[in-house]
Amino acid sequence: MFVACHLTILTVSMVTPKLPANLTDLPEYQLRVSPKAKHMRLSVSLDKGLEVVVPENFDHRRILEFLVQKRSWIEKALQQVDQKREYLAAQSPDRLPETIYLGAIAETWQVEYLSANSKFITAKEQKGQKILVTGNVENIEAGKALLRQWLNRKAQKELIPWLRKVSVAARLPYRQTSVRGQKTLWASCSSSKNISLNFKLLFLEPDAVNYVFIHELCHTIHMNHSAKFWALVSKYEPNYLKLDRSLNQAWQIIPAWV
Ligand SMILES: [Zn+2]
Repeated sequence: MFVACHLTILTVSMVTPKLPANLTDLPEYQLRVSPKAKHMRLSVSLDKGLEVVVPENFDHRRILEFLVQKRSWIEKALQQVDQKREYLAAQSPDRLPETIYLGAIAETWQVEYLSANSKFITAKEQKGQKILVTGNVENIEAGKALLRQWLNRKAQKELIPWLRKVSVAARLPYRQTSVRGQKTLWASCSSSKNISLNFKLLFLEPDAVNYVFIHELCHTIHMNHSAKFWALVSKYEPNYLKLDRSLNQAWQIIPAWV
């Protein structure tokens, strides 16, 4: 659903000569006036950096005070964003991977590329957990798409039988299952009890994958996130809260090329 945007963004530089010494080294921030905001708040993100959100008709002089108060939180958050940025850069999204580590099944695959005079590009599994990619390997996007297809097949082979086992052990049957490469979901369960799995689950820790399976299988009983649903989940996975939270961080494990 698209919601019309009421938000205005203006960039303000923090550094003005009149400020006392302890204020001059505060980071730059973007100011966003939001009619929906009730209080002043801060956010730090990879794309926007430090953002200060204030309600309409807000006394802007209070912003400085707030920034000084929250200085240590801001520094920590900005450091984390820097780490993310470095991590993503190290992943080189513009290059094809030489190794693929699938944490869920503890397998490391080496990828070799063989340039051939062809329009096409193919991938073949070889002995010793090797993938040989042959053809137009200069076409990075085609190479990435090919490796994603390989991941999809791998997930069908590894994740579907695993889900079946968990389902049988928990006595929570489902109808059908499919594997996709969803952008925002690890998995989903429809009202007709069809479960769809994301092949990116292959990169997670086994505990996290197991939790995702339990979570979706419990949706075959409760199609919501009610207290009853969570009570059922906790019956099968007492550590569900920690695992659920770990999924929010798990994007970090997914290589950029995926
Ligand atoms: Zn759910």
